[in-house]
Amino acid sequence: MYKAKAYSAAGASSLLASDTINRRESTATDVQIEILFCGICHSDLHTARNEWADVMPTVYPVVPGHEIVGKVTEVGAAVTKYKLGDIVGVGCLVDSDHTCPSCQVDMEQFCPEGVFTYNSPDKHLGGVTFGGYSESIVVDESFVLNVPANLDLAGVAPLLCAGITTYSPLRHWGVAEGKKVGVVGIGGLGHMGVKFARAFGAHVVVFTTSPSKIEDALRLGAHEVVNSRNADEMAAHVGSFDFILDTVSADHDINAYINLLGMDGNLTLVGAPEKPLPVSAFGLLFGRKSLSGSLIGGIAETQEMLDFCGEHGITADVEVIRIQQVNEAYERMLRSDVKYRFSIDMASLKDE
Ligand code: NAP
Ligand code: ZN
Repeated sequence: MYKAKAYSAAGASSLLASDTINRRESTATDVQIEILFCGICHSDLHTARNEWADVMPTVYPVVPGHEIVGKVTEVGAAVTKYKLGDIVGVGCLVDSDHTCPSCQVDMEQFCPEGVFTYNSPDKHLGGVTFGGYSESIVVDESFVLNVPANLDLAGVAPLLCAGITTYSPLRHWGVAEGKKVGVVGIGGLGHMGVKFARAFGAHVVVFTTSPSKIEDALRLGAHEVVNSRNADEMAAHVGSFDFILDTVSADHDINAYINLLGMDGNLTLVGAPEKPLPVSAFGLLFGRKSLSGSLIGGIAETQEMLDFCGEHGITADVEVIRIQQVNEAYERMLRSDVKYRFSIDMASLKDE
């Protein structure tokens, strides 16, 4: 065991603050990583404030962060995939049982023994796992990703959650040329959804509550942008979508989007608001529409997504901040004032 600097929250209403945590010594299959950048996901905020108490209560202190990019500083004796100095990524998952039906089809995110990067029981040290708002992390090599060499690392970090969470459902639901696809909410997830849907060849329509993001949405790849608070603009799209990806983090009316689907259209939720969302049965009945969810993606698909990003030059649009600005960043994220992901330069933790 060794000590590592980190930022943690001590309770649901506490600010994040400098802390020291324990990390395990590398086992034979572990990789130790010096963290260079960590993205700020809205899930970090939901967890830090215990907003998912009914489903995944937060154990304090919590060290959030699951959009990790760093440099390999140590490898266990049996590690074959990585060597010292490699640039690697870690997303939302750090372990699974490798044997269950989900693991057998490369969907470790649904493994009943799956271990999330933070706030999951830690098999090695007891307590819970600690995430990427830290100077280093130790992860089994099978949950470490290879980062394409041509990409900007601050912009790569958000791919590890926001990237895979949008890439996976767009692939699963066959988003491609000839499909009309909506993306609801232009934050960290939404802006990646736009980039991927465009790269897959679809006709992309963005729904935003922030008129200030309209020009950016077009630059990110949208063909059309709808102010979702304008009823006339919404009505113009009734019954026309093949697929809509909803990334909204707060309470909102999903029936308004179900109405925009065409026959057999699908609305997939990736946003995870604190409270349940009411659904009108009739919205689904007429047109045989479906409502789904999607959770990040498996390790193989995460690597596929990173490789796709390398080939197509795709990264997140980031505002790089120091760890000391994390509390202010959370408040700005709540106000939808982030363009379009905060990426923490973890070198700033050395000043603590
Ligand atoms: P984010 O950067 O804060 O973006 C959320 C966007 O939703 C905002 O930028 C805003 O877009 C829109 N929005 C916010 N409040 C709204 C409201 N009251 N009504 C309508 N629109 C609103 O958050 P994120 O990191 O992308 O995460 C989004 C959600 O996905 C969170 O709940 C997060 O926990 C969840 N998540 C799920 C997974 C998964 O595996 N399923 C993975 C990661 C995150 P506009 O300004 O364009 O309206
Ligand atoms: Zn996330």
